[in-house]
Amino acid sequence: MGSEAGEEKPHAVCIPYPAQGHINPMLTLAKLLHHKGFHITFVNTEYTHKRLLRSRGPHSLDGLPHFRFDTIPDGLPPSDADSTQDIPTVCASISVHGLSPFRSLLLKLQEQSKDGVVPPVTCIVSDGVMTFTVDAAEELKIPEVVFWTPSACGLLGFTKYRRLVEDGFTPIKDPTYLSSGYLETKVSWTSGMKSIRLRDFPTFIRTLDHQDIMLNFLIQETERSSRASAIILNTFDSLEHDVLESLSSVFPRIYTIGPLQLLADQIQDEALRLVGGNLLREDTRCMPWLDSKEPGSVVYVNYGSITVMTEGQLTEFAWGLANSQKPFLWIIRPDLVAGEAAALPPEFVEEIAGRGMLASWCLQEEVLKHKAVGGFLTHSGWNSTIESLCGGVPMICWPFFAEQQTNCLYSCTEWGIGMEINNDVKRDEVEGLVRELMDGEKGKEMRKKAMEWKTKAEEAMMPGGSSYSNVDKLISEVLASID
Ligand code: UDP
Repeated sequence: MGSEAGEEKPHAVCIPYPAQGHINPMLTLAKLLHHKGFHITFVNTEYTHKRLLRSRGPHSLDGLPHFRFDTIPDGLPPSDADSTQDIPTVCASISVHGLSPFRSLLLKLQEQSKDGVVPPVTCIVSDGVMTFTVDAAEELKIPEVVFWTPSACGLLGFTKYRRLVEDGFTPIKDPTYLSSGYLETKVSWTSGMKSIRLRDFPTFIRTLDHQDIMLNFLIQETERSSRASAIILNTFDSLEHDVLESLSSVFPRIYTIGPLQLLADQIQDEALRLVGGNLLREDTRCMPWLDSKEPGSVVYVNYGSITVMTEGQLTEFAWGLANSQKPFLWIIRPDLVAGEAAALPPEFVEEIAGRGMLASWCLQEEVLKHKAVGGFLTHSGWNSTIESLCGGVPMICWPFFAEQQTNCLYSCTEWGIGMEINNDVKRDEVEGLVRELMDGEKGKEMRKKAMEWKTKAEEAMMPGGSSYSNVDKLISEVLASID
């Protein structure tokens, strides 16, 4: 191993939660820090690192000076599987078993720095749901910042969990509550979130169990985050102003540095730009197919990396899209349908020939920037939402879990860039909403709004803009501070 210590760069250890929607923004931030002069150690779990190597090829992650990957185990039995891991299982395991290997990794890096192999570790940038790292940071006296990859409104929702438990809103007393309109209950005391209903909160409150893993995990992770030196969010001030103000009473030091993908556009180094974090291999037919379509004509459909649905829901979406008569690009992951390989009716595949393109994975950021894309049917993951906003693309929202419900609420009511679709999806509603999105008055209004937000996002990223300045402040005040 050659020495990379020479110029005494600041050294950031970046550790994402092991899922696509967390790896992507953390990797973008790591690249940005590298561009700003940092040595990076990027820490994956062994499981996700194997997936990354499989999708990128074994040598694709080597060779970039001052950018290294390392791994820790997630505490689960080793596996060569190539699918998204069960979220509660990983959360429960890594929050207990992550600390010891992470501490060892930091100690190893400290030893290596004494030998001049790497620069001394100057900071840890940890995912908001990997806060066992705070214990290691405190023990070894290394400053840590916590990067919450959801929206600010989603994070604010998580910070209300303890109060929702104390006030008896959750755990839910009886399973019938979930279908009885109980989730429509308004919660009046949530400062920063006007007219929020229980159903708009991140979904982990929809449990009957006091011991629920995710409910308790999120309470623990939000509370432990306040021990970090600062919080980073992939959003921008003008988008979530009120929410951010409210959050600042929980976390006094917040740096909003989004949309990170726009900042990353400033990176000139081609080798650095090419360090990719996709866990699945992209289907290279998508971009040429989009090139062949008229501007603004295509509906792009993607439910992210985790969402699963029933075969019935898949079929309703399929016929709704087909009946809308609009061209569409639909990404169907192999594990999209719960418990079985996603399969579409053969009549549907015949019906859409020439008009619909089906693929298993794409480079979504690129797709959403493509001029042919006129609308996005999404599960409202935060990365998808902010990537759509950066492309000026309006959405139909079908939130699945976690803070996607909150993102959907804000997309539809605050930002004016989304229309919600019923969870119990029916083909006629899909058809109607797709037509409205692509041709209707509401669609036009939403597109105009999305373009306005895109402009505001770009302003935040320009020199003097809020996110642009916050990156420099984050570096000088926390990450590379000598105090
Ligand atoms: N993504 C992608 N190609 C796909 C599906 C998803 O590149 O076919 C990326 C997408 O751009 C986003 C991330 O995966 O950055 C998904 O994150 P999000 O928060 O939207 O949803 P999650 O997968 O966490 O539910």
